[in-house]
Amino acid sequence: MEFNFDSIVAGAKDLFDKASTKAGEAIDYSKVQIDRSQLRVKLKEKYTELGKAYYAEKMTGTDRSYAMDKLVDEITEIKFKLEESEPKKVKKCPQCGAECAKDIAFCGKCGAKLDV
Ligand SMILES: [Zn+2]
Repeated sequence: MEFNFDSIVAGAKDLFDKASTKAGEAIDYSKVQIDRSQLRVKLKEKYTELGKAYYAEKMTGTDRSYAMDKLVDEITEIKFKLEESEPKKVKKCPQCGAECAKDIAFCGKCGAKLDV
């Protein structure tokens, strides 16, 4: 395991900041979506590579654990990025219409009870 956790967090935070900036919100939102679909494609490729490496190891008896460990790290990093850039789930307050996080019980604006 030797991917740089700080740079991943910084990257994810950067994505989130971009996504939550009021000006040009729609453009940034679609950019996040594009980044996410690129990440999903990359994730699929890495899984395929991992499968091929595993198969090659079984068939030839050559030790590929170094390559496989590297792929596992890359997959973990991509999954983390995908998780971090996931759009926040929101629900509308039935009382005042404010957008609230999906997992909270009371509206932050008017205090009305929300269905969880
Ligand atoms: Zn409310």
